[in-house]
Amino acid sequence: MLRNDDQLDQWDRDNFFHPSTHLAEFARGNLPQRVVTGGSGCHIEDRDGNRLLDAFAGLYCVNVGYGRSEIAEAIADQARELAYYHSYVGHGTEASITLAKMVLDRAPNHMSKVYFGLSGSDANETNIKLVWYYNNILGRPEKKKIISRWRGYHGSGLMTGSLTGLGLFHNKFDLPLSQVFHTEAPYYFRRENPAQSEAEFTAHCVAALEELIAREGADTIAAFIGEPVLGTGGIVPPPEGYWPAIQAVLDKHDILLIADEVVTGFGRLGTMYGSDHYGMRPDLITIAKGLTSAYAPLSGSIVSDKMWAVLEQGTDENGPIGHGWTYSAHPIGAAAGVANLKLIDTLDLVTKAGDIGAYLNKAMSDALSDHAHVGEVRGAGMLCAVEFVKDRETRQFFDPADKIGPQVAAALLDADKVIARAMPQGDILGFAPPFCLTRDEADSVVAATLRAVRKVLG
Ligand code: PMP
Repeated sequence: MLRNDDQLDQWDRDNFFHPSTHLAEFARGNLPQRVVTGGSGCHIEDRDGNRLLDAFAGLYCVNVGYGRSEIAEAIADQARELAYYHSYVGHGTEASITLAKMVLDRAPNHMSKVYFGLSGSDANETNIKLVWYYNNILGRPEKKKIISRWRGYHGSGLMTGSLTGLGLFHNKFDLPLSQVFHTEAPYYFRRENPAQSEAEFTAHCVAALEELIAREGADTIAAFIGEPVLGTGGIVPPPEGYWPAIQAVLDKHDILLIADEVVTGFGRLGTMYGSDHYGMRPDLITIAKGLTSAYAPLSGSIVSDKMWAVLEQGTDENGPIGHGWTYSAHPIGAAAGVANLKLIDTLDLVTKAGDIGAYLNKAMSDALSDHAHVGEVRGAGMLCAVEFVKDRETRQFFDPADKIGPQVAAALLDADKVIARAMPQGDILGFAPPFCLTRDEADSVVAATLRAVRKVLG
């Protein structure tokens, strides 16, 4: 099926603008041109005949694993029957209506409706627009600012790239936009004061939020957005008591909570949602990746009863809500979502993710925690991270120019054909495998990681 390799490589260099890629290095031929041709279970295959264990499930999204024919067939059936119709002005398809029901059945009780989009980024754009619309309808047009955390990741759009608290996504893009304010990252390992206990650090994060709210004025702040577990910012579970304490501050100041569950939704923490797990009571929940296990692009904004009542009232006053994508609730994505959620139920994959995730985290911690350059092994459910340090005693980090994280990831790939992700900020190796990972596969990921760490760091 493929052209000869040289021609394909040439076309790739000449035509393809790769996202999140060092463009100049790619043009110079210094980055791999991996053409991925197939996948099954936890493995992908490439054009050169390599079979790689994908311990990051693509971009933590192929939760049920590769090659699931149930989902492929649902997509093909939908495409044959009805490839597309829009969902404006009350239209829908059996797949999109069924999926909405399935999503709400699995969501916390106080959630009311789901708006479907295409990507995590557009779902978060929708969320911010809904928050603004809500406050305008309530007659408080000045309550518009959004608080996010440093190291949060919420997308790559103009607003969502602003919410993202990582410099790489702001630099040279004139971001963040002026309505966005970042507060302390709930990252205990990187706390400034090493003497702080976890509970004290939580109190410090809460105080920082209170200070920001006092400085800006609660009547100007609309919402707070956060991932239950920081993802792209370093795979960092929150410190003890963090979410209930943050929730109390938000409630006190009438600030909405957006739980960005793009990574954690549909089982990655061993529970359906991270909000359940950590005691958050969100007004909006962002879903994407695990909704279809990335078999087709689909995302969603789940809206609470409280917000829904106001949105409905808004349309009585203003006419139809002026927010829609051509591909909102695309039938092919919806069919993939229905088949995916059924598969998760049938195979009990949420429980499995919790069990195998606990196994992987313990095995990784047992194997690596004592290494002289491992500062921390941490995780939750099917998320795991190893953070490297130059000096464990002083918690001194490596110079970013040494690229320790990327070097370890490259060694792991070269020697053992295991894919982990060098997280973009800090020397952190991230793991987020498909939920079908076996114990044997988990053991080989851990053994290979130890070999790669020893190769790079001794
Ligand atoms: N939110 C979170 C928590 C994410 O991890 C991501 C993507 N990694 C997004 C939003 C954005 O999703 P997308 O890339 O589909 O736009």
